[in-house]
Amino acid sequence: MTEQPHVEIYTKDDCPYCEMAKDLFDAKGIEYETYNVTGDEERFEEMIERTDGRKTAPEVFIDDELVGGYDDTKALDEDGELDEKLGIATADGGVEHRKLVISGSGIAGLTAAIYAARSNNDPLVLEGDEPGGQLTLTTDVENYPGFPEGISGPDLINNMKEQAERFGAEIKNGVIEDVDDSSRPYRVELSNGDVYTADAFIAASGASARTLGIPGEDELMGYGVSTCATCDGAFFRDEEMLVIGGGDAAMEEANFLTKFAEKVYLVHRREEFRAEDYWIDRTHEKVEEGEIEIIKNAEVREIHGSVEEGVDYVDLVRHPEGYPTDKLDDPETEEFEMDVGAVFLAIGHTPNTEYLEDTVVEMDEAGYIQTVGGKGGGQTETGVPGIFGAGDVVDYHYQQAVTAAGMGCKAALDADDYLETAEIEAEEGTTEAATGDD
Ligand SMILES: Cc1cc2nc3c(=O)[nH]c(=O)nc-3n(C[C@H](O)[C@H](O)[C@H](O)COP(=O)(O)OP(=O)(O)OC[C@H]3O[C@@H](n4cnc5c(N)ncnc54)[C@H](O)[C@@H]3O)c2cc1C
Repeated sequence: MTEQPHVEIYTKDDCPYCEMAKDLFDAKGIEYETYNVTGDEERFEEMIERTDGRKTAPEVFIDDELVGGYDDTKALDEDGELDEKLGIATADGGVEHRKLVISGSGIAGLTAAIYAARSNNDPLVLEGDEPGGQLTLTTDVENYPGFPEGISGPDLINNMKEQAERFGAEIKNGVIEDVDDSSRPYRVELSNGDVYTADAFIAASGASARTLGIPGEDELMGYGVSTCATCDGAFFRDEEMLVIGGGDAAMEEANFLTKFAEKVYLVHRREEFRAEDYWIDRTHEKVEEGEIEIIKNAEVREIHGSVEEGVDYVDLVRHPEGYPTDKLDDPETEEFEMDVGAVFLAIGHTPNTEYLEDTVVEMDEAGYIQTVGGKGGGQTETGVPGIFGAGDVVDYHYQQAVTAAGMGCKAALDADDYLETAEIEAEEGTTEAATGDD
């Protein structure tokens, strides 16, 4: 019998990615040891030493070899290399058929799974590289109906997973790489080589955090640059922190970071914010208390620092009419530097629809799926019969948990109608053929 390799995970408190790393190994039935670095200086130093200076959790080791953070572990899993390292790789090249495949275990995918399971459509949910979706990145969800005191994002998602599984939904790790709609059943290929065929498919793959593409951003990602304040904010306690963005997420992150930061700077490239009034008001309260400073009409052009020391300072430009990088030659454009210890990007999301690019599912310029919409049944239908869209991957406007859940419900009901009609048509076809034979 092969011995299971020794898996170690450095974690910290309130760390959704740590939970996701643990879930990944749990799903494979692999045991691991965890070391929580929160409040444990010795462990924290040990982690930094073993990872050559990385200051983010989780950090995963297999047999004393550094795998990296959650993204690295996930990437290895997608290539099938993680299973090889864990000694659980199979040579199974078989194709499994499912009635309904759902891409994504965010709130849209899980709501669809609950409804589809209750309609006996035997849904398979493939989690993608962000199991639980965006809500796993937030500590407090205060506007989801039914929770007067609010609920944490991970708790809400875990409850929904439990609820979906209770009705028979299967939830699996797996990133969909390609959907082939040229014949039926549809063929769904995963990045780890697994293949499913599906009678119906619900795309609920949400949207991913955007980055700026500026110098220093990639190099320092995980070393002071982050797209998740709730995950990494506590690592930069008592430092000055900079949040980039002007929507709800930017304001929520800026407010959250005041728990740890010496001061938070909120940099926005124009004068008006896109955020809800609620968040604007809360942010202005923090401005009055001296905890947040808003820098409008400004953009960060470069992040300076090193892997060893983290972020040192950033270069910015500002123009009174906003969008200063488009006006670099304008004499009114002012260049300046700011010393900060961490930079958090909160500049929106890109819909995760690459796996649909070879299909005839229609998408808009930004990649959001086009569905029928309107008031009657079939609102979540795409142009391809049997393929439906739900949640943030369709809806670039509302992008709320409750709206995503609502669309997930509609998609499952639409898929159920489609599958029932297809079944009746198939039966009628069989009966006609049988009659013809008589
Ligand atoms: C920090 C933060 C705080 C928020 N707070 C609130 C709040 O308080 N209240 C509120 O209503 N909303 C909040 N939101 C918005 C809310 O989280 C989203 O509107 C909601 O999560 C959208 O759900 P979704 O299921 O459509 O997509 P997502 O949550 O984005 O989930 C997408 C899922 O698809 C998967 N996926 C992606 N690509 C693939 C692929 N190729 N194959 C398989 N799976 C794939 C991902 O792994 C993920 O599981 C917040 C968002 C953020 C970022």
